[in-house]
Amino acid sequence: MATIKIDDTKPFPNFVKEPENKRESALDFFKRQSNGLKLISDEMEQEKKEQDEIREIQKKSFERKRKLFYDNLDLILRHKDEILASPRYANIDVHYAIKGGGLYVGPLQTSRRFCIAGSIVTVNLRLATLLRIWETDQFRVDCSCGGTALIRSFTGSPLSGGSQATSYCPECKKETRVANRNFGKYFWFLQTRLSEDVETVAKDFIGKWALAEVEYGKKIAEGKTIDPKPGAEFHGDEQYCNLETMIQELKLKEFEEG
Ligand SMILES: [Zn+2]
Repeated sequence: MATIKIDDTKPFPNFVKEPENKRESALDFFKRQSNGLKLISDEMEQEKKEQDEIREIQKKSFERKRKLFYDNLDLILRHKDEILASPRYANIDVHYAIKGGGLYVGPLQTSRRFCIAGSIVTVNLRLATLLRIWETDQFRVDCSCGGTALIRSFTGSPLSGGSQATSYCPECKKETRVANRNFGKYFWFLQTRLSEDVETVAKDFIGKWALAEVEYGKKIAEGKTIDPKPGAEFHGDEQYCNLETMIQELKLKEFEEG
């Protein structure tokens, strides 16, 4: 009897891309052509070109941040408790710090974009979440220097369960390869943590709206109805912090403390 062997050791083949076929009839095509109307306008092409350029700049920026992040990982870990306790640091976007993915499941989405009523809301992996992920054994490796290295990238297959990963040691600053750890324990664990980050952002949004309605209600009660709608009372976080600022603040703090 013939047996079917699924070989998932090789990357999934790329499917032939479907051509730009809008499946219009020949009559529609000629009518459109004679009116000089393109399917994709020059303005649409220009918009796409500009968005591609922005993405390219962003990609370079995230590569720079990734390097900065790992160069200063020892500093970040020394201040872990402080980071977890202050939302200004805990909520910093570090989606570029860990990469993962596998056959069939595709890349791990550490940054998710939602279009909500025409506004783009991006939810990124938060620094606090990553620090918590690194508390689990699956994401920790003993380094030959005596320190603890942390997983920063992985690939594998949910079918075989096999994986290849790389870890980074904040003490000797070396990257090493880690093999034969359960792929699912990387992928699904991170997936769940990322879903929790989406929940954190969504609940925070709802909470801020509820607060706006309360503030609006108070103004109505006081007879101060200058603002026509609760939307005027809606505010985001007052303090926003990026990785660069946090690292500088932590360095200055250590300097001052001698
Ligand atoms: Zn080490």
